[in-house]
Amino acid sequence: MNLNTNYKNLQQSYLFSTIGKKVADFQKTNPALPIIKLGIGDVTRPLCPAVVNAMKKACDEMGKAESFRGYGPEQGYGFLKEAILNYYKEKGVSLELDEIFVSDGAKSDVGNILDLFDKDNTVLVPDPVYPVYVDTNIMDGRNIVYMNANEENGFLPMPDEAVKAGLIYLCSPNNPTGAVYTKDQLKAWVDYAIDNHAIILFDAAYEAFVRDSSLPRSIFEIEGAKKCAIEFCSFSKTAGFTGTRCGYTVVPLELESDGLSLNKMWLRRQTTKFNGVNYIVQRGAEAVFSPEGRKQIQENIDGYMENAKVIVATMKKLGIFYTGGENSPYIWLKCPEGMKSWDFFDYLLTKLSINGTPGAGFGENGEGFFRLTAFGDPEQTKEAMRRLENADIYKK
Ligand SMILES: *Cc1c(COP(=O)(O)O)cnc(C)c1O
Repeated sequence: MNLNTNYKNLQQSYLFSTIGKKVADFQKTNPALPIIKLGIGDVTRPLCPAVVNAMKKACDEMGKAESFRGYGPEQGYGFLKEAILNYYKEKGVSLELDEIFVSDGAKSDVGNILDLFDKDNTVLVPDPVYPVYVDTNIMDGRNIVYMNANEENGFLPMPDEAVKAGLIYLCSPNNPTGAVYTKDQLKAWVDYAIDNHAIILFDAAYEAFVRDSSLPRSIFEIEGAKKCAIEFCSFSKTAGFTGTRCGYTVVPLELESDGLSLNKMWLRRQTTKFNGVNYIVQRGAEAVFSPEGRKQIQENIDGYMENAKVIVATMKKLGIFYTGGENSPYIWLKCPEGMKSWDFFDYLLTKLSINGTPGAGFGENGEGFFRLTAFGDPEQTKEAMRRLENADIYKK
């Protein structure tokens, strides 16, 4: 028996465990103020009533012989795929039902999609980065090339003609930086991918947070993208499904290489290794697109974006460099004068009782930066920003 020794190349991620330990230790000692959590990448608002009601109804159906459902289509029920197709129509993107694959979340699909690609591809990944892109490729033993996201490029790296890659990961709105590509910028990526016969793996988990209507919410808003991109979406951040689990992936029918259709390959992969998302959850996901569902999830998103606005206002007032916050629930800020991420983390925790995430945990370029999230409580977010505005470190 031989093991996949690529696992030895994975770096142990101590980020959230270290944060958890530091917060717990500090809590035990002496916080003068209650700790405000602005570090979590999870939502805090519950499922909306339209979703809960749809799931209850579906649950009742499952308990009756005449409406019971067993195995469903691996790629999702038609009712949910229709709802997703109509949602894309609103963004000006026309899809075929066969291009939509319902899944148990974007994280699984982002990892599983690698089944379609040879080990010999070079993979282009932004730094800082959502760690899943990196670790899933290390597990397969692929060569990863990092592209620098930094203050100079507004944390939106652009294609470098000198670098040849087969797979390109883009996440917009970005986690952790909150930065969002414009249509022109994405067009440059699409052109680069087509020229290089590369595939863009586009993570749109935060598309619902885009408020500026000139910014793209899907890569398929860009001409040519159906020839070179796969898009991953999720109900997790949009509708509070982080614990409920549902997402969807769009694999265009036009995507082909070496006489193989990527859509057919993904269909085969899913029907072989996946048995679909449960009916009850798919009914809940369908309700996200109903008129009431849309209104209710929008209220939740608006609530988070109010928090983002509060954080952004403080960044502006203190003259801090930041990205995100306007079209994303993440605010990525520069630490005070040459301070390192973890030092700023310690300062915020021990002096102000604010818990955030050190940018260094997301890659080398994250050093000197810090992530705050808009998923916290509104009053607590305001209180945290009051504390920051009065902090010694920002007194000139
Ligand atoms: C939260 C998140 C997801 C969503 O993952 P799910 O598995 O659908 O919960 C995907 N990509 C990024 C960058 C995320 O932050």
